[in-house]
Amino acid sequence: SGTTDNPPKEHQIVVCVRKRPLRRKELADGELDVVSIPSKDMLVVHEPRKHVNLSKFLENHSFRFDYVFNEDCSNGTVYEYTARPLIRHIFEGGMATCFAYGQTGSGKTHTMGGQFTGRQQSSMDGIYAMAAGDIFTTLKSPSYDKLQLKVSCSFFEIYGSRVYDLLMPGKPQLRVLEDGNQQVQVVGLTENPVNSTGEVLALLELGNSVRTSGQTSANAKSSRSHAVFQISLRSSANRRLHGKFSLIDLAGNERGADNSSADRVTRLEGSEINKSLLVLKECIRALGRQSGHLPFRGSKLTQVLRDSFIGGKKVKTCMIAMISPGLHSVENTLNTLRYADRVK
Ligand code: ADP
Ligand code: MG
Repeated sequence: SGTTDNPPKEHQIVVCVRKRPLRRKELADGELDVVSIPSKDMLVVHEPRKHVNLSKFLENHSFRFDYVFNEDCSNGTVYEYTARPLIRHIFEGGMATCFAYGQTGSGKTHTMGGQFTGRQQSSMDGIYAMAAGDIFTTLKSPSYDKLQLKVSCSFFEIYGSRVYDLLMPGKPQLRVLEDGNQQVQVVGLTENPVNSTGEVLALLELGNSVRTSGQTSANAKSSRSHAVFQISLRSSANRRLHGKFSLIDLAGNERGADNSSADRVTRLEGSEINKSLLVLKECIRALGRQSGHLPFRGSKLTQVLRDSFIGGKKVKTCMIAMISPGLHSVENTLNTLRYADRVK
């Protein structure tokens, strides 16, 4: 069903796209689906021409990625080709990162499993929980059992240039410090020991409820922040970090908020987000080219993820670019695809 039969790739950087289905409301409104997926690694956007007197009415934009997931793909399939291949990497002492990128409403939170509980879908079926499940399975396997590793989780939110702990009551703001050895530390960040997927789910539930509660429009606020969920493996003997998996639900990349919004705060948020996403792109590109300069200080997001960008072969990244299929989203969709195209 639009998935690939090939084994998952083991590249250092994997870039893929997921198209969500049209929502019931969109279908009812007669929204057009302008995205087609002719093969497992290709996608075409059919953009109406601005001047209809030109010979054709549609302009077709084709893109190729490591994988393209169509609207029939489940979270499980997306997980299998994106985050799952990175599990072994962290057990072998590596750093792994998986980003969900795209405009608000494109399916980032749905894919990651960061829904507020009590809604139709729980965190259970998302990438966060599936990764946690596989980590506990791998931990008990004969090849890694002898490493005596402990698992712990952190969950925080970056809003503008501020960092908030989602696992601490009251969601306190935390400081980010860089020491003389260029080690970046989020001071006081909760790192909760966990012994089962159930315990991870409980933490996700807690963090997700803190992330979205207390707002008039839950999605409006959460879509303006980056949510970072981290699973760390530490040696039980000396607590030294062995490997880490960072799973990130990025802030919405839509442009609209920059200039069209009358609200100054919203405009400022928009430009902060754009800046952090630009710096992120540069950091991933630098990683792919193995070039020396990483502009990670250019945003709080890349600064706190510094150890996931340095370290050469010990670092692997996956980006899932989410797209909405509708004609009304075509400009944002093209922006998302061009961004993802630059990262790969
Ligand atoms: P985002 O986090 O990017 O703003 P959401 O994950 O909140 O977007 O998704 C917006 C809406 O679309 C939600 O109601 C979600 O359940 C639905 N949705 C997103 N992706 C899918 C999908 N692949 N299949 C079915 N529904 C989806
Ligand atoms: Mg979201």
